[in-house]
Amino acid sequence: MLISQDDRLSFEKSKSGRRAVTLPSARFSGESPTKAVSSGLLRQTSIGFPELSESDIVRHFINLSRKNFSVDTHFYPLGSCTMKYNPKVNEWAARNEKFTALHPLQEESTAQGMMEILWELEGGLKEISGMDRFTLQPAAGAHGELTGMMLVRAYHASRGETKRTKVLVPDSSHGTNPASAALFGFHVVEIKSDSRGRVDLEDLKQHLDDHVACLMLTNPNTLGLFEKNILEITKLVHQHGGLLYYDGANLNPLLGIARPGDMGFDIIHINLHKTFSTPHGGGGPGAGPVGVKKHLIPFLPGPLVEKAGGSYRWADAGPQSIGRVKLFHGNIGVMVRAYVYLKMLGKEGLRKVSEAAILNANYMKECLKDTFTVATQGPCMHEFVLSIKSLGAQGVHAGDVGKRLLDFGFHAPTVHFPLVVPEALMIEPTETESRETLDLFIEAMKAIADEAVSDPEKVKTAPHTLPVRRPNDVLAARKPILSYRDQLREKMLLAEAAA
Ligand SMILES: *Cc1c(COP(=O)(O)O)cnc(C)c1O
Repeated sequence: MLISQDDRLSFEKSKSGRRAVTLPSARFSGESPTKAVSSGLLRQTSIGFPELSESDIVRHFINLSRKNFSVDTHFYPLGSCTMKYNPKVNEWAARNEKFTALHPLQEESTAQGMMEILWELEGGLKEISGMDRFTLQPAAGAHGELTGMMLVRAYHASRGETKRTKVLVPDSSHGTNPASAALFGFHVVEIKSDSRGRVDLEDLKQHLDDHVACLMLTNPNTLGLFEKNILEITKLVHQHGGLLYYDGANLNPLLGIARPGDMGFDIIHINLHKTFSTPHGGGGPGAGPVGVKKHLIPFLPGPLVEKAGGSYRWADAGPQSIGRVKLFHGNIGVMVRAYVYLKMLGKEGLRKVSEAAILNANYMKECLKDTFTVATQGPCMHEFVLSIKSLGAQGVHAGDVGKRLLDFGFHAPTVHFPLVVPEALMIEPTETESRETLDLFIEAMKAIADEAVSDPEKVKTAPHTLPVRRPNDVLAARKPILSYRDQLREKMLLAEAAA
């Protein structure tokens, strides 16, 4: 494999001496800056950054971005991720200098506006979820889960119940649930799903004893199903002294309709970067606020905003707190976005979000149910899972269907998850898509189902229209190429090896 002229054209644009900026000459009254730094610390050779004009840089990045799929350019039905359209007004607010120029350590009296936003955001999350207090610190859903596990242990320890080391997790759960519990040293026990895809009550009962610390549950679960027995489940776990943890990463189907707090959950995390419209993917930043019922408030990380009279102050955590889980107050920009989103929609608007998300998912499911096998029976919530196993296609896997969808101009659904469904495609249309978009996607899915039987090679070798086709997923994770220089070096090594 040689370095093609194309790669050189697209990546090697540096020309010695080319500049995109003109820096003002340094104005120092005393010593020159190079004298002020000891010679041992001064760089002796050029760092070798590429040298480019402004137009080279702009074209390079704009062209790269156009090779990408995003919510702003494509329908993105990635199940369990809630890739909904993010209103641009959120970005405008989050970039406002009145927020970005604040320092987390500045005097309370000079940050009252931001503290009001955090207070009101917390108030909104409490109302939506039915919990009593939230810490806004956690930086993501999985971080919220870890925080939740710390709360669970602190709560049981405060009651002298240190033998509670078991965390129950349904087999359909999101992978972060067992991972977070295990990371914090809990013993993870899997609970089976029944034939209809919900928690198997008999299996749950078998595992309930005085070693159970908590049950972690997503409702609706990753199959897009609401746990109809939720009140019985939470009652059973409570009767055995365990706590109930709600994975609220995907609150999109519940807004204004049902509240985890009313279902009997003690702890919840919410992904602001899914339900509350912060752009995500590509690694963040996100926010995974954790809410608790009254009996767990003393264990929350601090400080928390308190309102007294007409003003706000930071209240330090009490002696039972698990301590900070993040520097300062968390990812504030994400919170500003969520706050604007809540205020713009209001109570009624939020409920409409969920109703439309559920309607869109059910519409698609009904249109696709004769072509694919729907993994569950009856209506779904905000997402649904198809299996392609029944297509009878030779050697075509769910991942191939996902790849082929790219040729049709759609981002792939989540594939091969949840693990309880063979050859799964997990589809979440979200509320922000039009009927026309949903119909185009349905057409593409049906066309691919036909191809999978008539011309399986075409599906197995897709995508055919994109510059990057089938990267090695394992190498991409284990040996990521993070700069253009790495990429060139990699190609030269490969070229040498081939020579
Ligand atoms: C996305 C997701 C998580 C993890 O959230 P991150 O912010 O990616 O850490 C956990 N549970 C469910 C159900 C999710 O969809």
